[in-house]
Amino acid sequence: MNVEIISVGTELLLGDILNTNAQYLSKELALLGINVFSQMTVGDNIERLKRCFEFAFKRADVIITTGGLGPTTDDITKEAAASYFEQEMFIDDESWEKIQNKCIKFSGNKGSIPQNNIRQAMFPKEAIIIPNNNGTAPGAIFEKNGKKIIVMPGPPREMKAMFVESILPILKNGSGYIIDSKYLRFFGIGESALEIKLINILDSQTNPTVALYAKEGEVLVRVTAMCNTQIECDKLLNEKIAEIKNICGEYIYLIGGDEISSSQTELDNVVGKMLVESNLKIAVAESCTGGLVSSCLINYPGISKVFLEGCIAYSNEAKVDRLSVKLSTLKKYGAVSHETAKEMAIGIAKNMNANIGVSTTGIAGPGGGSNQKPVGLVYIGIYINGNVYSFEKVFPGDRRKIRERATREALNLIRLQLLKSRS
Ligand code: ATP
Ligand code: MG
Repeated sequence: MNVEIISVGTELLLGDILNTNAQYLSKELALLGINVFSQMTVGDNIERLKRCFEFAFKRADVIITTGGLGPTTDDITKEAAASYFEQEMFIDDESWEKIQNKCIKFSGNKGSIPQNNIRQAMFPKEAIIIPNNNGTAPGAIFEKNGKKIIVMPGPPREMKAMFVESILPILKNGSGYIIDSKYLRFFGIGESALEIKLINILDSQTNPTVALYAKEGEVLVRVTAMCNTQIECDKLLNEKIAEIKNICGEYIYLIGGDEISSSQTELDNVVGKMLVESNLKIAVAESCTGGLVSSCLINYPGISKVFLEGCIAYSNEAKVDRLSVKLSTLKKYGAVSHETAKEMAIGIAKNMNANIGVSTTGIAGPGGGSNQKPVGLVYIGIYINGNVYSFEKVFPGDRRKIRERATREALNLIRLQLLKSRS
């Protein structure tokens, strides 16, 4: 199958935005073994877009476009595709209903729905309409005489989700092979460090293919196999995953999930599930993360079985009063120290009679850092079954990023301690 990508949008031609959609799609298609011989970028102009279709169909059977599905008159992609295939567009009642509901949900009243939104519900009868679960504009597959134009929205978040949920399965089916992917989620190793570890696998990859994606503080590795049968696919995938696990299995916290699920949610779920399964009661005392660790754990349904309390002990007074941190510890080592983190973890566990106590204390900045204790320095304490540990980390980023990174680190440390306590 040959596919061409056409990116629609005058903003792209003016250099106002970077064409990340084409990059994403090219990478995805290459991993499926689909040839992309050419990419085009065109402004919001029907005639010019139609000329691109004509040109692209000389070499390809399928065109994928992104952009130009919005409600305004400069959004012309569907009009151009319909006109190119000489198909008439009608209002699709189901799509219009869905768009109206989304608008009402967003603004709260029906009177506020701009009538030009109806353009987003217009399709030829011959088209297959593709739902958009992250925005108003549905996508579509236009088809005539074996040629296909697949139109997707411009906003990358909407486009990627639509591609993974709806277009990828169609392309996989159309390839005549079984194409299957498995996802490995890594924590505690950056994309480039992981790339170095996996360099032999990456350099020699054919089938399965292996792709790395940096995701909100972690790395997602996708392994994709293309075979005649599912059994062959499973065998190739399992062998490759075993090879990867051998090299850097200690960083993998999950094999599973899908490409678009958020890494944060996956980590919350993995740790929440492990806690519930272990039936160890947990209590959390947070300073710099201000409740984020508790909040992530509480994201997991069923956590009430083991989660006892989350305490935000921000001031020194709170650390002393609520968690029995010794005044002398705070004076001698400071609030941001191994010693304080450990006493906080022990304090919250003892208070609540928990098996596990977790604490965070750090300098989220932007001010307050020093040479010895820079901004980003965070201590995470873990008391588990009578033992107490603390971990020192320095996180880059602004205040929000430091707090988020410390939260993820704390979740991962809980996970590692639970693994240790199991074995
Ligand atoms: P909307 O309903 O938001 O108008 P649309 O489908 O009409 O969506 P465009 O108007 O073309 O899409 O683009 C909307 C936004 O999506 C752009 O402002 C840009 O931020 C982003 N975008 C569009 N095309 C691309 C692209 N090729 N690469 C990266 N981002 C893009
Ligand atoms: Mg638009």
